[in-house]
Amino acid sequence: MTKKYDLVVIGGGPAGYAAALYGSAAGLSVALIEENKVGGTCLHVGCIPAKELLETASVLRSVRQAKDFGITITEEPNIDLSISQNRKQTVIDQLFNGLNSLLTGREVTIYSGKGSLGSDKKVEIKTSEGTETVEGENVLLATGSTPRTIQGFEIDKKFIVTSDEFLSIEEIPDRVAVIGGGAIGCEFASLLNDLGSSVTLLEGLDEILPGCDKDISTLVRRSFVKKGIDIHTGVQVDGHEETDSKAMVSWSVGEEKNQLEVDLIIVSVGRKPNGQAAGLDGTEVVVDEKGFIEVDKRLQTKEKGVWAAGDVINSPQLAHVGFAEGIFVVKEILGESPVAIDPSTVPWCIYCDPEVAFAGLTEESAKSAGYQVSVSKHRYSGNGRAMILGETEGLVKVVAEADDNGKAGRILGVHMAGPWVTEQLGQAYLAVNLEATVDEIATHIQAHPTLSELFGETVMSLTGRSLHG
Ligand SMILES: Cc1cc2nc3c(=O)[nH]c(=O)nc-3n(C[C@H](O)[C@H](O)[C@H](O)COP(=O)(O)OP(=O)(O)OC[C@H]3O[C@@H](n4cnc5c(N)ncnc54)[C@H](O)[C@@H]3O)c2cc1C
Repeated sequence: MTKKYDLVVIGGGPAGYAAALYGSAAGLSVALIEENKVGGTCLHVGCIPAKELLETASVLRSVRQAKDFGITITEEPNIDLSISQNRKQTVIDQLFNGLNSLLTGREVTIYSGKGSLGSDKKVEIKTSEGTETVEGENVLLATGSTPRTIQGFEIDKKFIVTSDEFLSIEEIPDRVAVIGGGAIGCEFASLLNDLGSSVTLLEGLDEILPGCDKDISTLVRRSFVKKGIDIHTGVQVDGHEETDSKAMVSWSVGEEKNQLEVDLIIVSVGRKPNGQAAGLDGTEVVVDEKGFIEVDKRLQTKEKGVWAAGDVINSPQLAHVGFAEGIFVVKEILGESPVAIDPSTVPWCIYCDPEVAFAGLTEESAKSAGYQVSVSKHRYSGNGRAMILGETEGLVKVVAEADDNGKAGRILGVHMAGPWVTEQLGQAYLAVNLEATVDEIATHIQAHPTLSELFGETVMSLTGRSLHG
């Protein structure tokens, strides 16, 4: 007999498991179908392993800086990558076990297999034991995404890898070309540079970190160059050649042709949505030419009762956006009319060194949207806590709407680069999303001495008065 559920979720990544957990917490009967491991890209080959390895790089920087604090380390620190990789796997395993316990504790029925949605919201599941069919009053498609590749750089797992393979490397390559200067490419370039690789970063657009405010991407670029990362922008990669022991990557900038011998090429050019991964034969669900499942503002597909969330729809491909969308769908099913998620105000965090974090409009996008803006920037070089940490590189930039007299009002965007900004973004995100004004935020006290004081200071200066400049 076909089992029926209030909600059947296909895909157990952040979007899918958030919907499953939240739905069951709200009293829905939930089935979660996952063909690989619950946790998805984020837990197994994305956010968690990448940040774990970046933490190794951060510890190494601290050890190298220890002499500034009078701590003598007599030998050059040595990295045993196998220990770091084991540590990474332990963190993943702990989170994976925790997630499984949470799901079973909440009585979510987990099916291990590939789910295919057919007509009448029936989902066929192919498992190692055979085929089973379940039916959902509602079905959520959360099939995620996979790394994009480019012609001429077919993944061979030896010289050419995507993030999937890179995150499990056993040796630190001497010379690396990273293709793609987006968030993931910059995290990998920064990580490898810290671990001692010679890194060349190749980006097709005019600047790395597209989507970031220009002041931030310029700051990161300068910092990367200062550390020795060789950055080429406006590049077209042409292909590569391999011998037994090395690869030769070729690229052009206009007429100028370049070649470089490397030991590893990391292709980091974005992620392809898995729009067709759940069959969809006999359904009204539409997948666009890029592979995204089409949804309306309520995240409903063209078929009533079939929803989609996460990387498989055309919204920011971030784990926390997937969580929010999964929760949104459950609330919508419950008839709670949640406020639609505005993609332009979601928080972004990039864990390279220096870290980057932002929410809301950049100065440029605010102007193109027709706002008159008032902007303030403050640097960590004047912040006490940053000096104590010995990490004074970076800035906070606040973009506010201005009236005809230039007086700053609503905060439209906050952009940060520097020490621990990924942990400082929270209050900036709230300010942007609560549509707070600079006057409202400036009255709040920032604890001293904290890095967060710089956000308070930057907002305060937009009120027309400030303490430190
Ligand atoms: C290197 C890297 C670093 C990242 N860092 C960050 C970060 O710091 N912060 C951040 O917010 N985001 C980060 N991301 C992005 C984040 O991982 C994704 O946005 C997030 O995982 C998307 O969640 P999802 O649930 O939509 O899809 P996924 O996580 O891709 O999960 C989809 C799941 O569906 C399963 N599936 C697919 N088809 C079927 C089927 N037919 N039947 C059953 N199961 C199926 C897959 O096996 C998979 O487990 C990073 C990504 C990468 C690659």
